[in-house]
Amino acid sequence: MHDEFRNTTTKKSAYAGKVYMELKECSQIRNYNELMKYRQLGSNGPIVSILGFGCARLINPEESEKAIIEAASQGINLFETGPGYGNSELILGDAIKGYRDKVYISTKCSIVDEYGMPISQDDLFQNVEMSLKRLRVDKIDIFNAWNIFDLEHFKAARKRFGFIDGVRKLMDEGIIDHFGFSSHDSPENIKIYIDSGEFELAILSYSIIDTTYEDVINYANRKGLGVIAMKPLYGSVVLLLSKIFTGQNSDDLAITGLQFVLSSRSISSAISGMTKTSEVKNNVKSVNGIERLGHTFRNNITKRYGSFYFSHTKFCSACRYCDSCPAKIPIPKLMKLYNVISIFGNQKKEFQQFTKAQTIQRNDFEKCLECEQCEKKCPDNLNIIERLKELGEILSGNEGIDCEIQRIREK
Ligand code: SF4
Ligand code: SF4
Repeated sequence: MHDEFRNTTTKKSAYAGKVYMELKECSQIRNYNELMKYRQLGSNGPIVSILGFGCARLINPEESEKAIIEAASQGINLFETGPGYGNSELILGDAIKGYRDKVYISTKCSIVDEYGMPISQDDLFQNVEMSLKRLRVDKIDIFNAWNIFDLEHFKAARKRFGFIDGVRKLMDEGIIDHFGFSSHDSPENIKIYIDSGEFELAILSYSIIDTTYEDVINYANRKGLGVIAMKPLYGSVVLLLSKIFTGQNSDDLAITGLQFVLSSRSISSAISGMTKTSEVKNNVKSVNGIERLGHTFRNNITKRYGSFYFSHTKFCSACRYCDSCPAKIPIPKLMKLYNVISIFGNQKKEFQQFTKAQTIQRNDFEKCLECEQCEKKCPDNLNIIERLKELGEILSGNEGIDCEIQRIREK
């Protein structure tokens, strides 16, 4: 299977030459492939493929390995993982052994522990050591402070002998190459993180239905930070919503969604969660011709889709940060169900197909201890406890729910 991977680094067409010039002085793009486009991650960062492989949803090792190999063979050189994504680091480490020098691995560590207390340097060192072991590498290309929650946590991380001090030590020892952060905090606070001068890159959510961080993404770019866009399809909500209004199939919509994100020149790479080779192929197709898409494309997309995406519902973006419920409630799955009901209503074919495909246990809704752990972790501030109660009523009593289709029709 590994033979499928071809190192095409030395293949350079006329276009590739141009890319090289645009990217200033870079002697080599790791894993160069003519099918892919590359951008520099910030002023001093590596040259990364504009499509990055998000490893948060890797479950099946065999299928995942095929998808990772396919991605590498199509020129994807950025793989984003984390210790909080199940066996993701292990699966990725296994799949890319043998191509280590062809790709960039990005992983992360939270700056606070499960009780919201700042983690010690010893804990940081231990976490990094575990990540290195799982990934089977001796250094991390891109290391991120995961989900900086607020200013207070950030200040604690900057203290002497704190998290950031620890990362600097690891950088001095050559164990970490580049340091970034991810956050769902307010744009104002994110500007403070950018201005702190601690980071070389930021991982921020950006999609056709969620442009909250657009200004701060452009700001980061002006300040020389690289920006990696996460949730470019907002956990598939873009696909669900678009299907109602456009009748397009989901492959076309994924293409439009990714193209929208990548048509922003402030973004170096969009991380798309992939699990199958077919998804990799479709996503790679979507970045074709992306360098030619500019303001006109973005204006047309905003005009065409903007009104459709006007929504009263806050959607779950499938980050799975809440997936450690003490009552073992499968929260991400149920919040996805809530998305589907909010969009299609509970009588629609799509809703019935979704519930048929999923094993929804009725008593999942009754087990909640209302401990609020999940709500504290949710970057989208969703009222999860309330939604679980609503779901219980809808599914047992066949209650109706206002859905996006009705709202749009009533307009
Ligand atoms: S509030 Fe309920 S659903 Fe959320 S973590 Fe606690 S028990 Fe689980
Ligand atoms: S409910 Fe919130 S924390 Fe849980 S998966 Fe959805 S967005 Fe993430």
